[in-house]
Amino acid sequence: MSQTKTDAIVIGSGISGLTAAALLAKNGRKVLIVEQNRQPGGALRRFTRGGIPFDIGFHYTGGLGQGQILKVLWEHLGVWPGITPRPIHPDGYDFFKFPDSKTELKSFYSYEKARAQLHSVFPHEVSGINQYLDMINNLAMKIPFFNLDLPFSPFLRDFFSASDQPLTKAISSIIKDPELQAVLSAPSLLYGVAPDQAGLTMHASVAHSYYTGAWGVQGGGQAIVDSFLKVLADNGVEIRTGQRVEQIDVSDGQVTGITIDDRKIPASQVIYTGHPVHFPGLVTPGSFRPAFSNRVKNLEDTSSMFVVFGKLAEPAAIPALNHANLYSITPGFGLLDDLSEARGSGTMLMTAPGRRDQDSSAGSNKAAQGVILMRPASWAETAHFSDGYKQRSKDYQQWKTDATSDLIDQAAANFGEACQNIKPLAAGSPLTFRDELGSPAGGVYGVQHNLHQYVARARTKVQGLYLSGQGSLMAGLIGASMSGLVTASEIMGLDETWNRVRNCH
Ligand SMILES: Cc1cc2nc3c(=O)[nH]c(=O)nc-3n(C[C@H](O)[C@H](O)[C@H](O)COP(=O)(O)OP(=O)(O)OC[C@H]3O[C@@H](n4cnc5c(N)ncnc54)[C@H](O)[C@@H]3O)c2cc1C
Repeated sequence: MSQTKTDAIVIGSGISGLTAAALLAKNGRKVLIVEQNRQPGGALRRFTRGGIPFDIGFHYTGGLGQGQILKVLWEHLGVWPGITPRPIHPDGYDFFKFPDSKTELKSFYSYEKARAQLHSVFPHEVSGINQYLDMINNLAMKIPFFNLDLPFSPFLRDFFSASDQPLTKAISSIIKDPELQAVLSAPSLLYGVAPDQAGLTMHASVAHSYYTGAWGVQGGGQAIVDSFLKVLADNGVEIRTGQRVEQIDVSDGQVTGITIDDRKIPASQVIYTGHPVHFPGLVTPGSFRPAFSNRVKNLEDTSSMFVVFGKLAEPAAIPALNHANLYSITPGFGLLDDLSEARGSGTMLMTAPGRRDQDSSAGSNKAAQGVILMRPASWAETAHFSDGYKQRSKDYQQWKTDATSDLIDQAAANFGEACQNIKPLAAGSPLTFRDELGSPAGGVYGVQHNLHQYVARARTKVQGLYLSGQGSLMAGLIGASMSGLVTASEIMGLDETWNRVRNCH
């Protein structure tokens, strides 16, 4: 361990922890990151199967355009020179189709192109489409991450207290066509909350980021992590991997450090970025009121997924994946309903982020052969196989094999017979996500940010102890990055830090 006293300990090396650590270190703090996995990066880590690199938790993002939040933040932190953004395509889009209908739609990553396409496919809904897109844009313009002219503090105060309206109510009051309702509510798949539980503002923050551009990154999420690691090393941040923090030590209402393997590491600030439900159990007993601990322990998870990572020997066989993410959805607001029934019929997504590794054209390199198939999944599907941490039964392996071939069949039915040539290399289920992400019900985006559930704030009642990560502010690459920014700003001064970041732009 370094001889210099540690100011701040960050628990977790996902994008929120890396962001908070980089900001604190840039401002002269001595920072230690502790990560339980052997590799840093959290959900942004890559793994390789059959020589093909796959991303777990990063397929595409907004925010990387000129003057947009991730680019501005990463420029401020010195991370940007290590990033090569790959626009999905100048004319890229999410492609939507319905299993039992001829309707097909390109939802472009541009307000104007999306508007024109929506008008042409749903001419009977022109007025509602205009109202919806304007509403999303107007709401996003009240969020400082999308309108860099705004100060931080009023947004954070209102964000946690705002009485938002339900997404289903907002859409159904202006849109009557069930297929269009499904298309417009589909971004809820990117934050894992069913449309009837989701708030319009949270929805707008995700939908807007894609209507203003969508990118991959050369080298995927791992390239983002690697660029952060270089900057952190340059700023003297120590990272210890393969070490699980077992206790956050508190004395007299002030955090005093952490305990790992019965050894204490003192620090006057500790930031926890893991799943919030585990947080109360880590902190010295009696530090929080039972009401707070129970509320946090019982937070409901986001929806889970079943994911197949496969190989397509001839990427040219599905050329649409060069410039689009392919969605099949059902009409109405039921994208995340009846997940245990979803197998083989409901919502699914097919994407090939590896193709963005080489100028987005289908070529011969290994990454371009990777294909990822995803469908929403419920904890109930795998709960009965759950023996213990990373322990799997033969019955589970059989279930996974069957679920994999069902998903490939579903892809073939939706996107063409060429999908039958996808060779599955790995699969992730709610059990996988429980064990890899620490989500009790395998939720892929941490706890739900819905209309009814408490949102954990960065600052806790214990002095020097903070929460961050997708479970606190928002999910996704942008949301988790913003939570790291907000938490570090709570320590260094909210508006001063925000001013330094946005003035970089
Ligand atoms: C399948 C999937 C697909 C996704 N696709 C996209 C996408 O296309 N675009 C997008 O923007 N977002 C996507 N996301 C979401 C995005 O990956 C996450 O929102 C984001 O990476 C979360 O970052 P985080 O720092 O909050 O959490 P994490 O990345 O989960 O990091 C938390 C870290 O804390 C560590 N930790 C927890 N407890 C302890 C402890 N006690 N001691 C030590 N370490 C601890 C964990 O090991 C972990 O590394 C996807 C997620 C998944 C799972």
